Amino acid sequence: MLTIAEAWEAIEGVVEPLPRQRVPLAESLGLVLAENIVADLDSPPFDKALMDGYAVRAADVATLPVRLQVAGEVLAGQVSARGLAPGEAIRIMTGAPLPAGTDLVIPVEQSALEGATVTLQPPAVPVGRNVLRRGESTRQGAVVVPAGRVIRAVEVGCLAEVGQHSVPVHRAPRIAVLATGDELVPVSDRPGPGQIRNSNEAMLVAQLQQAGYAAYPLGIARDDAAELKRKIMQGLEYDVLVLSGGVSAGKVDLVPLALAETGVETVFHKVKIRPGQPLYFGRLDRSRPANRPLLPGSLAANRPNAWVFGLPGNPVSSLVCCELFVKPALRRLAGLAEVRPQPLYARLQQSHFNGGQRPTYHPARLTQTPSGPEVTPVRWIGSADLSATASANGMIAFEVPNREYAAGEWVAVYPW
Ligand code: AMP
Ligand code: MG
Repeated sequence: MLTIAEAWEAIEGVVEPLPRQRVPLAESLGLVLAENIVADLDSPPFDKALMDGYAVRAADVATLPVRLQVAGEVLAGQVSARGLAPGEAIRIMTGAPLPAGTDLVIPVEQSALEGATVTLQPPAVPVGRNVLRRGESTRQGAVVVPAGRVIRAVEVGCLAEVGQHSVPVHRAPRIAVLATGDELVPVSDRPGPGQIRNSNEAMLVAQLQQAGYAAYPLGIARDDAAELKRKIMQGLEYDVLVLSGGVSAGKVDLVPLALAETGVETVFHKVKIRPGQPLYFGRLDRSRPANRPLLPGSLAANRPNAWVFGLPGNPVSSLVCCELFVKPALRRLAGLAEVRPQPLYARLQQSHFNGGQRPTYHPARLTQTPSGPEVTPVRWIGSADLSATASANGMIAFEVPNREYAAGEWVAVYPW
């Protein structure tokens, strides 16, 4: 059985970023850059004014007030036909190129215009103030956004500034979610005796979509080897297949066998964690002739791998394993450099005993206070208790089994 860290290592060790492609800048939000992007121009591309006012030479404004000849005007988008001669000022607007010879801009609020002359008032403005020199923000050829960075709005701005109307990114993973279990009925049905609704499928699809991924529900597979295999084959058309249920040691936990029979090899099965111990992770290697897609027109034809997670069916186990293991794999596929979940640290508000033999990821409520972050475990009766989990906004990692965690201790918290 792997530790949590070993499971992360295993995922990082085998999963590789999906191939590169170019997408229009407008469609790049949330994707991950596949190359370093360099500036094609200096930014700003010319010396420019940062204020509305008067472009002047330092020598002419050494003592204020001073009266200067107004030699012209330059608006943003224009270029001044002449430079500054001694004793002159040129009216200038924010964003306009500085006339040659300009040392600084005196704000219009410090000026009084009378005919063709302007009187500039104190306070004195140091050389270089209210102007930005060519290339001061970014030099041509410098990396403006590095490979491996997710594209947020601010990166879209940087990419636009350097003319990247089409952007090299990693293809985004496509994920199928398949629920398994004879006891499951669709959400729209009223469960009969012994039945429950298939809540995991909708939840997992939502959990992945909320993280920005394209996830698709495949419905319910019965605990029947043939049906399971058929639906698994459908799911293997995607980059990642996420199954819920059927991976532990019950009589109808048929998922690992059905996966093996469809060519999926186990990377690991079982992780030392609560909830989620039966977690399964596997890979379909399509470079093997036996694993070439069978479906005509398959989308999977030129994909080297399909990845499979088998999540334990208890809803909180599914949720926690998706958070801790599925998402890191997706981040890797998407091209991110850093894929492991990043904890925050917070002060435990009440003592807590972590019984049992495994690290426990316990649903918890994290709050920010003026004296720092605080966290309280929610009352929770275990991995089937989804409604208590819904009152949480993260989980505490109680890493050490059989240990009392005291109130006031700092603990690692993974926010949702
Ligand atoms: P399993 O992992 O298949 O042994 O299932 C463990 C528990 O999770 C059982 O109580 C199942 O009824 C429940 N369960 C399995 N699949 C789902 C699902 N899709 N939605 C809600 N509960 C489920
Ligand atoms: Mg089951």
